[in-house]
Amino acid sequence: MRRALPKVGRDWPAVKAEMLGYASGDVRWREGKTAVYVFNAGADVEQVQKEAYVLFMSENGLGPAAFPSLKRMEEEVTGFGLELFHAPEDARATITSGGTDSITMAVKAARDFARKKRGVTGPLNIVLPRSAHPAFDKACALMEIEVRRTPLKDYLADPAAMAEAADAATVMIVGSAPNFPYGLIDPIGALSDLAVARDLWLHVDACVGGYMAPFVRMDGADIPPFDFELSGVRSMSADLHKYGYCAKGASTVFFRSGELHELMVFDVRNWPGGRMVTPTLAGTRPGGAIAAAWAVMNFLGEAGYRRKHALVTEARERIAAGVEALGFTVLGKPQLGILAFTRADADCVALWAKLRERGWFTGVTTEPKSLHLMLSPIHAEVADAYLADLKWALEGSPAAAGVEARYS
Ligand SMILES: *Cc1c(COP(=O)(O)O)cnc(C)c1O
Repeated sequence: MRRALPKVGRDWPAVKAEMLGYASGDVRWREGKTAVYVFNAGADVEQVQKEAYVLFMSENGLGPAAFPSLKRMEEEVTGFGLELFHAPEDARATITSGGTDSITMAVKAARDFARKKRGVTGPLNIVLPRSAHPAFDKACALMEIEVRRTPLKDYLADPAAMAEAADAATVMIVGSAPNFPYGLIDPIGALSDLAVARDLWLHVDACVGGYMAPFVRMDGADIPPFDFELSGVRSMSADLHKYGYCAKGASTVFFRSGELHELMVFDVRNWPGGRMVTPTLAGTRPGGAIAAAWAVMNFLGEAGYRRKHALVTEARERIAAGVEALGFTVLGKPQLGILAFTRADADCVALWAKLRERGWFTGVTTEPKSLHLMLSPIHAEVADAYLADLKWALEGSPAAAGVEARYS
């Protein structure tokens, strides 16, 4: 919508009031009615995110010499991740702008590994379970890598199907911990065995679970090994702005060694502006996102994450039991923050649309059609209200036929 910039500006209170007016139609996530897009860890975390972000909002992660503060905070944040994910001594990590960025950069490093270290010259491919995130397709589109998605078995990656799809031109195989559509952790141990046996690069996409799984395991959840503990894992992605409860614009990408991490880095000298070395595609990197991540992690600490994640687990267990009592089947055995559930005789996409009438904005999964929730600590407070509204939606005649399930 093309329009002219206002000839003269207005004062900030007027501008602010108008912005807030625009927001009146947005989902009411602070009330806990949104179970996609937003991670609501409570007002305490939100305050830390905001104040830390604003303190370093103008600083630029592109210039570590100018801003040793940001360099130090990045090293400490990635250090927490290296420790949580059992990384070996030589492992290296970088803060990126998000999961898609982390994944794209891992694919870039794996692509360069295939070309430069293994001498692969022809077309390249990547082998993914059908449930892997579209970020891999985007990275492969940029780098002209063929995407081979393999069928799932019980909603999980099937190592046998992936073994069959992989060949000498495979730059990476992928497992998710957990996958986004079902919230289930792929059999990463078996994928690691495959990677070791065939000398393949295994990337673990822990974007949505990486900063939750270690803490719920401490509280007794039976989470199988999924990180650098497994020798076949060469890289991992884990989003700070999801279950790390950090401000948006922050994820982490990890490599088993400094040598593999080096393959990600860009080092450009052939222009008159001086040598430019950047760990990722980004030039300017928002200092606020790095600072907010550092602040939230130090604010919560291990005990804080355990406390917040315990609320997510409580919400998930209550909702799983509640939807089963309503005749739904939960897909697989979710152990983290996401669950999907279906009922053969109900149109779940229509139910999803009906629940929106009552202010609930959640996800939907298409294979099979199911309702999909990505839960936050706040949902422990509203689980019963959701279940009551789901019952209402189920009893009414879902009239929203023809609604398309999509994220856009
Ligand atoms: C969210 C997500 C991504 C992508 O992360 P963005 O921060 O949205 O770019 C990748 N993989 C999984 C499993 C995710 O849930």
